[in-house]
Amino acid sequence: MTDITLAPIQPDQPSHLMATYGRQAISFVRGRGAYLYTEDGTEYLDALTGIAVCGLGHAHPVIAEAIAEQAATLVHTSNLFEIPWQTAAAQKLAEVSGMEEIFFSNSGAESNEGAIKIARKFGTQQGVRLPKIIVAEQSFHGRTLATLSATGNKKVQDGFAPLVNDFIRVPFGDVEAIQEAALQHPDIVAILIEPIQGEGGINTAPQGFSYLEEVRNICNQHNWLMMLDEIQTGNGRTGKYFAYQHTNIVPDVLTTAKGLGNGFPVGAVMTQGKAVGLLGPGSHGSTYGGTVLGSRVVYTVIDTIQKENAVENAAVVGRYIVDQLRAKLADKNVRVRGFGMMIGIQLPKDCAELVAIARDQHKLIINVTAGSVVRLLPPINMTQAQADDLLERLVALINSYL
Ligand SMILES: *Cc1c(COP(=O)(O)O)cnc(C)c1O
Repeated sequence: MTDITLAPIQPDQPSHLMATYGRQAISFVRGRGAYLYTEDGTEYLDALTGIAVCGLGHAHPVIAEAIAEQAATLVHTSNLFEIPWQTAAAQKLAEVSGMEEIFFSNSGAESNEGAIKIARKFGTQQGVRLPKIIVAEQSFHGRTLATLSATGNKKVQDGFAPLVNDFIRVPFGDVEAIQEAALQHPDIVAILIEPIQGEGGINTAPQGFSYLEEVRNICNQHNWLMMLDEIQTGNGRTGKYFAYQHTNIVPDVLTTAKGLGNGFPVGAVMTQGKAVGLLGPGSHGSTYGGTVLGSRVVYTVIDTIQKENAVENAAVVGRYIVDQLRAKLADKNVRVRGFGMMIGIQLPKDCAELVAIARDQHKLIINVTAGSVVRLLPPINMTQAQADDLLERLVALINSYL
């Protein structure tokens, strides 16, 4: 163990960190499953899991052991060499996704950058000089220049002009708007959407997941790539390994990150069908993408999700949480939506202050997105007893607020 002890952070202490985040004045030093602990041992129930990242909970013993053992053996050699753990991780990911080819990156934004490059390469090969990609309003795809340009949130784009060109924006769930765009822009080559919009407020399409089937049909009609951003919805979050598996369709390009590493920074862009083979030697790369250590983590996370039946658990326990919330908050003016362990409670008013109230009065970690949506992203392997604990704290919180 280290012999370095860090002094606690003082509220008015000058910091060398760039002020990009609005941080809460609390820090956690330890975690176990669905719970987080501060230095003085206070226990918090974590219904956020590092923003849909630690799906298997904190300090999962199997993941921790894999990281420790691999770190003490070999961390990185580079993609100049064969990496058996990377090949094995790709095999696992292909198995759970139904995709054919996988490129490992280190984050969600980077995975989407890969998808955008694939779409452009696809267009270029069809002789389209300036290929366009359809994206949705209220979407979130990341903070790099191309992904913030694809994002449907002006706040994310403000001050960063010139944006990356040739994204066409349509309302989420609106199939006619896509057909309309197709008539106006002959150079469209792909569509990039989230099956459920996470940052946008846990938005499901009005027609539910059949929206994805309708989009698939349009993509087939026009020979576009259907690209799904499952960075947040993937890895069991919605009660299927990937959210599109609630339907019978398969996308051409699929991106994921967050839950794929349970806290270790990894991401992936995957292709199948007509998207296979578009990125060949020299066309894409990442120094850190698919390191020995990162790949072993990916393999172990997927293997653990499978062995714990965590995806099925997310479906059952998530359904239970939604049903209980609807019943217990029936007399309140709220709407509960979501699938599996990706749940939003739409309140009738802005409720950003609930984050602090939940934390301080109920020892509960939640997030509020889109101003008035309480966002729950608990571990996908949360037990029924922990779900009851969550419900008790949450219902008390909302009852005291509305
Ligand atoms: C979080 C997220 C991203 C960005 O991922 P980073 O790892 O922060 O770059 C992109 N798309 C969706 C849907 C996300 O939820």
